[in-house]
Amino acid sequence: MLFADSFYKKSQNVFLEPHFKGQRSGWIEVVCGCMFSGKTEELIRRLKRAKIADMKVEVFKPRIDTRYDDVSVVSHDTNTLLAQPVDSAQKILKISDDTTVVGIDEAQFFDDDIVPVCQELAMRGIRVVIAGLDMDYRGEPFGPMPKLLAVAEYVTKVHAICVHCGNLATHSYRLAEGESVVFLGEKGQYEPRCRSCYHHGNILRLK
Ligand code: ZN
Repeated sequence: MLFADSFYKKSQNVFLEPHFKGQRSGWIEVVCGCMFSGKTEELIRRLKRAKIADMKVEVFKPRIDTRYDDVSVVSHDTNTLLAQPVDSAQKILKISDDTTVVGIDEAQFFDDDIVPVCQELAMRGIRVVIAGLDMDYRGEPFGPMPKLLAVAEYVTKVHAICVHCGNLATHSYRLAEGESVVFLGEKGQYEPRCRSCYHHGNILRLK
């Protein structure tokens, strides 16, 4: 049973993670999805594995994300990894010479400069692992994410579960009032929904 368990986990990881053995140049991986889809957990999982493999990892996030501790990528299950908050994407280029893996969380909050920055890193031979929301609460592509998805070698879309029907959720439905797209929130302000329930809007709140 123990063997079967670990074999299952192993094959799951192979399925999720790009197979890069033997690839010598740098590349870009994007993990995207809606809120509560486990994007950051997947980013942390990949970066921790890189650390186990003795790679020098540096992690960044935009300074705008202040929901939690200022210096860590924090996912909803409190599985954390230290991250450096940066004011602009350009600052990510100032990594130390021995860094071989760069992680970026909440990439949707960077401006379009993040795209050439990631490409520059990949050209330097660095593995770039990016996590971000693919759509905002209006269902529109979020910030630089569509461009990052286009230039990436590997794209993984993770899903949450629709709180209304139990199908795979791809949309972040906003329950709170307000117009700002850059609205940081937690459970109670957003909920994951499938395409169909997302388009039902507030009707579902009346049941
Ligand atoms: Zn649904």
